[in-house]
Amino acid sequence: MCLSKMTVASGGRPGIPSWKLAEGNKDMSCDHCLKLNRLCIRIVKIDGEYRFGIQPVPENLREGSTWEDTRFWLLP
Ligand SMILES: [Zn+2]
Repeated sequence: MCLSKMTVASGGRPGIPSWKLAEGNKDMSCDHCLKLNRLCIRIVKIDGEYRFGIQPVPENLREGSTWEDTRFWLLP
């Protein structure tokens, strides 16, 4: 679940995120965050502990960028 979509959805109402631009891959940024150009932040469980996770732009939209590039996290 994307925290941005849950808490600050467009129109002021939270909703259920979708991953059409990521072709269903929920490890990528959700459609809502891509459209509004904001970081897609989720709660992820790593080694049994819950942490914040920032989901990257889907590979097909990154244009070869790496995690050090802005486009890896946000569309221009
Ligand atoms: Zn999101």
